[in-house]
Amino acid sequence: MFGVADELLHLAIQYGPNTLPDAWTGNPSLADTDKRFATYFSPTLFSLALDEWLTGSGVKLLLDTWVSVPVMATRHCKGVIVENKTGRGCYLAKVVIDATGDADILYRAGVPCICGKNYLTFIAYASTVETCESAVQSRNILQSRRWLTIGSDLWGNGHPKQMRLLTGVTAEDVTEYVMQGRKLLLERLKIDPPAQRDLSALPGMAQFRTTRRIVGAYELTDADEGSHLEDSIGVAVDFAHPGRWYELPYRILYNTDYDNLLTAGRSVSAAGWAWDVTRVIPVSATTGQAAGVAAALSARQNVVLGELDAKLIQDEMLQSGVKLHMS
Ligand SMILES: Cc1cc2nc3c(=O)[nH]c(=O)nc-3n(C[C@H](O)[C@H](O)[C@H](O)COP(=O)(O)OP(=O)(O)OC[C@H]3O[C@@H](n4cnc5c(N)ncnc54)[C@H](O)[C@@H]3O)c2cc1C
Repeated sequence: MFGVADELLHLAIQYGPNTLPDAWTGNPSLADTDKRFATYFSPTLFSLALDEWLTGSGVKLLLDTWVSVPVMATRHCKGVIVENKTGRGCYLAKVVIDATGDADILYRAGVPCICGKNYLTFIAYASTVETCESAVQSRNILQSRRWLTIGSDLWGNGHPKQMRLLTGVTAEDVTEYVMQGRKLLLERLKIDPPAQRDLSALPGMAQFRTTRRIVGAYELTDADEGSHLEDSIGVAVDFAHPGRWYELPYRILYNTDYDNLLTAGRSVSAAGWAWDVTRVIPVSATTGQAAGVAAALSARQNVVLGELDAKLIQDEMLQSGVKLHMS
């Protein structure tokens, strides 16, 4: 994916395990492009590396801060109301980017949205005496834990019988999803002798894939696979079908009726399988990067999002190495 996505990949392995092949030099275009590369990494050490990266970049952080509602003047967003340890507060903004993963803020602003349906998947980290023995023998800490997956794969195989599919955009859905996952996980763990296994991490959030996404100025669909899109801000590869790719038009990040609201990540405007292609981590990083660039340009130039020259966003993306077109 290049750009910020590539930066994040390298941050993920900066302080922890790294099994990225040497061929991936940091300049992926030099690597053997017939192969797909993967690396193990430590999510906890990645978090610490991210802290360093963000503070080093001058980002002002506010932990445990929840955005509740946008402050709207008809279809223009003046800012957002937040709740945190200090209490309730308001941040005014020229442009707001919704990176909630669920388009919560844009939905509450009135932007048309579409909900998905989700199978139950619940992935925890588990250690057993066997995995620990293996780590000691191999002198490799990676061997000390493994994924313990409860429920379904991507395609619905393993989804608990009788359980309805959940959208993930209500408190009841989130609660049912997490509690059902935990219950099944505990049932699975009860099989093993208590002294011989433990969980090193529960999921940090409800593991929904496609919850809610906006209806944008453009809707990316399966028909766009392999197509040239003039305002592309990056190229997404289809993780399940090697060789297939989608250019990502700037217009999937906003709805034309709302002049200063953007989204990024798994809530961009994409339908069908194209939604699955755009919701994954590297693509979320790329749409996040483009949304940030678009917001900055719009604020600096005093130009509404729908009238922003996509070429300016593309120039910025190109400078960080992002590939805009495949054809
Ligand atoms: C089981 C499972 C396996 C997956 N496997 C892979 C994989 O192997 N590779 C891959 O690339 N992708 C994978 N994905 C997909 C990927 O994890 C997500 O789609 C991706 O993280 C989406 O990124 P995002 O930033 O849009 O949203 P999220 O990662 O959901 O981030 C949104 C963040 O916003 C915060 N937030 C939400 N609402 C508010 C609010 N109101 N105020 C403040 N903060 C808020 C949330 O707490 C969260 O931290 C998987 C997903 C699932 C469920």
